[in-house]
Amino acid sequence: MNRRIRVAVSGAGGRMGKEVIKLVLQDEGMELAAAIDRSSHGVDAGGLVGLGEAGVRVTDDLETALATAGADVLVDFTTPQAAYTNTSLAIKYGVRPVIGTTGFTPEQIGELDEQCKEQGIGGLIAPNFSIGAILLMRFAAQAAKYFPHLEIIEYHGDQKLDAPSGTAVKTAEMISEVRKEMKQGNPREEETIEGARGGYYNGFRIHSVRLPGIFAQEEVVFGDYGQTLKIRHDSYERAGYMPGVKLGIEKVMGYTGMIYGFDHFID
Ligand code: NAP
Repeated sequence: MNRRIRVAVSGAGGRMGKEVIKLVLQDEGMELAAAIDRSSHGVDAGGLVGLGEAGVRVTDDLETALATAGADVLVDFTTPQAAYTNTSLAIKYGVRPVIGTTGFTPEQIGELDEQCKEQGIGGLIAPNFSIGAILLMRFAAQAAKYFPHLEIIEYHGDQKLDAPSGTAVKTAEMISEVRKEMKQGNPREEETIEGARGGYYNGFRIHSVRLPGIFAQEEVVFGDYGQTLKIRHDSYERAGYMPGVKLGIEKVMGYTGMIYGFDHFID
C-alpha cells in the first residue's frame, strides 16, 4: 500500500481551513502532519473541527511546523497578505504548497514557480477548487460557439464585496475566447432605471444578485429562435470545494513547478 500523504494546514481555524482538517482526518490516503493558526493555537486539531482528539496540536509557528512535522503538502486558506510568505516558506522546506487563498499577482506566481523548480517540487495555486464551477465554465464556452446570445447571472450572499464574482468574470473571459465580440439586443435599448440591464462585457450582460441565505450560484442563459439553454451550478457550502482540494493534494505529489488554476487537472 502507498504511504499516506502527510498534510499540514495553515489557516486551520478559518472556515475553509476547518473543512480541510476534516477532509484530511477522514481520508484514508492522508494524515494530518500539522495545523497552523494564530487564534486557535494550543487546541487539538480534531477537537477544533468537532471530530475528537487527533493528536495534533494547532501551532502558530508555521516555520517550525514546516521544518519538523515531515509534511509532504501544505494546504493554505488564509489571507492574500499571508499566503505569499507561507507558500515561499513551504517551498524552502521542500513542502509542496496547495493554495486556495486568492489574490496572487502574476509576478508572484512566476517567482513561486521558479522556487518550486529550484527545489524540484510541485505546487498548485487554485482560486476556485469547485469542480462543478469549472465544468460550468467549460460547458458555457462550448455552448457559446453555437448560441452566441447569452447572459450570465450570478448569485452570492449579501456581504460579498466584489461584483461580479471572480468566477463570473472568468466565465465571461472563457466565453469571449470562442465568441466574437457582438452587441446583443435592440440597438436602441434604453435603461429607465440605471443598471437594469446588468454589467456589459464584450456585448453580453452579467447580473449580480446579492441576498442573505445564498452561498454561491451561477447560471449562463443562452437564447436562440424558439429555444433557450441554461447551464447552472449551485454551491451550498464550503465542503463542496473539498473533492477539488483532495485531487489537488494527490496531483501535486507527481510533478515539478507551480501550476495556476485547478482546471488543469480536469480532462
Ligand atoms: P476565514 O474564515 O476568514 O479564515 C482565514 C484564516 O486565515 C483564519 O484561520 C485566520 O486565522 C488566518 N489568517 C488571517 N490572517 C492571517 C495572517 N496574517 N497570517 C496567518 N494566518 C492568517 O476565510 P475563509 O473563508 O476560510 O477563506 C480563506 C481564503 O480562501 C480567502 O482568500 C478566500 O477567498 C479563499 N477561498 C478560496 C476558495 C477556493 O476554491 N480556492 C474557496 C473559498 C475561499 P487568524 O484570524 O487566527 O489569524
